[in-house]
Amino acid sequence: MEIVNTHTGKIYVDTDHRLEFLTVGDYGKENNIKADFLGLHKEINGVQHKTVDLTQKWVATISTQKGCPMNCKFCDCPKYGFYGNASVDEMAYEIETILKNETVKNTDRFNVHFARMGEPTFNPNVLAFARDNLRKLVAKYIEAKTIHPVVSTMLPKANSHLTQFVLDWCNIKNIDYRGEAGLQFSINSTDDAQRDYQFNNRSLNLAEISALAKMLQHPVGRKYTLNFAVTKDTILDAERLTKLFDPKKFIVKITPIHETKSAVKNGFDVTTSYDDYEKLDKRIENERHKKDKRKLGL
Ligand code: SF4
Repeated sequence: MEIVNTHTGKIYVDTDHRLEFLTVGDYGKENNIKADFLGLHKEINGVQHKTVDLTQKWVATISTQKGCPMNCKFCDCPKYGFYGNASVDEMAYEIETILKNETVKNTDRFNVHFARMGEPTFNPNVLAFARDNLRKLVAKYIEAKTIHPVVSTMLPKANSHLTQFVLDWCNIKNIDYRGEAGLQFSINSTDDAQRDYQFNNRSLNLAEISALAKMLQHPVGRKYTLNFAVTKDTILDAERLTKLFDPKKFIVKITPIHETKSAVKNGFDVTTSYDDYEKLDKRIENERHKKDKRKLGL
């Protein structure tokens, strides 16, 4: 297994198991901009890189599949091919490897993102692993005040079990974890044509995602998240978003698109850095002004 050290953590490339996973400390909540999309009122800060402290927040990002059968235009995973779902034991192996390779023995928060290789909703083992194994497994190695698993999905239309998976995950979030779990929908654009391009026509359309969103029970703890990996060309229509998704249930998270080879090859603007949110800040500010004007009947 190859271990690649980065300035914030380690990437494990396990060719034997065909898995890739990573560990990273909290390098700032500022990395993600969260906007309450009804008010869009939270201030947007550029990201300041800060020293990693695993005792405060520790993020493990694991693969749920070996490669990925989806073919999102901005992602390098499909190049690897697809070799099936990770088993419960294999996901446990990813977490154990991450925990064993650090000297830290306690943390305020251990987040597990099912978001490296693969589309997690294709793998029912994710549900069983989070519900029955994860907390016991983590407790064997470290003391974590909070354990917070997060499923991120691009809502594949080819998954006939998608609705059931998402509803089951909401139960895990709201009941098993008493709110301390996350559900993120990769939306990326409020324009269906732009989404179709990015997700290679493999994601549900916005109306279908909205219908699924309406079926979700009210979140306990943190709201569900609408994730926008943005470029300067991203279409983000706050009014449309508000019509599609209930702001009482959802928040919006905006992150710059990652500079993957596929993103570059497919012409995505990846120059937006974590330190440059000016344009986005302006766009959201404009949306807010439009909304205020409407409220005042101007
Ligand atoms: S973004 Fe996710 S679903 Fe899309 S190809 Fe990459 S790993 Fe698969």
